[in-house]
Amino acid sequence: MNLTNYKINEFFQTIQGEGSYTGQPSIFIRLQGCPVACSWCDTKHTWDIEPSLEISADKLLAKSAETEQWSDLSVDQILTLIVQQKFKAKHVVITGGEPCMVDLTPLCQGLEQAGFSTQIETSGTFEIRTTDSCWVTVSPKVNMRGGYEILSSAMKRANEIKHPVATEQHIDDLKSLLLQHKVTTTPVYLQPISQKQRATELAIASCIENDWRLSIQVHKYIGIE
Ligand code: SF4
Repeated sequence: MNLTNYKINEFFQTIQGEGSYTGQPSIFIRLQGCPVACSWCDTKHTWDIEPSLEISADKLLAKSAETEQWSDLSVDQILTLIVQQKFKAKHVVITGGEPCMVDLTPLCQGLEQAGFSTQIETSGTFEIRTTDSCWVTVSPKVNMRGGYEILSSAMKRANEIKHPVATEQHIDDLKSLLLQHKVTTTPVYLQPISQKQRATELAIASCIENDWRLSIQVHKYIGIE
């Protein structure tokens, strides 16, 4: 029995469109809550945990639009829901919000014991608590309004670093971060913000110059969640 609870905003199956796992059928579990406050965040509905917006698991599954509603589910309930939904994907991506505000070890352990591979996507501003085998994607959010620092422990734990890019300043921030935390071998992905052409051109040029990789959010080009 694994009764640790998590506040879930949504739960769906799709294709991972970013980073090393691009193209991988995946179950996404989006946690509620994030204080980082990126100005260009495309999931602002996950920021606040408003008690009056708690809903049942049934209502969570019936959600058809992005809302601030969330459901408090145990690991066992999450595993049961995956079976009930007849999801076929064997890879689970835990995202947010900022999932590392909570200890993800019980959730990842439960999923891995049930035969899933696990991945988390985090801003790198909270201590990463998860299993050793979990794939960790750190997407460092530098100088955001929330005032959080990128943790050295997060940069070191990262299996990949995925950096949102729109301006030269973002490239400079990334280079400083890699230097500061002595990250030399972790794969780096540049991700143009909002599919803007200028951002994409900048990302392509910077990838070639620095031997980084391009992550273009494939799901947004093919029109899936
Ligand atoms: S860390 Fe992620 S969820 Fe939080 S504000 Fe930034 S982009 Fe949005």
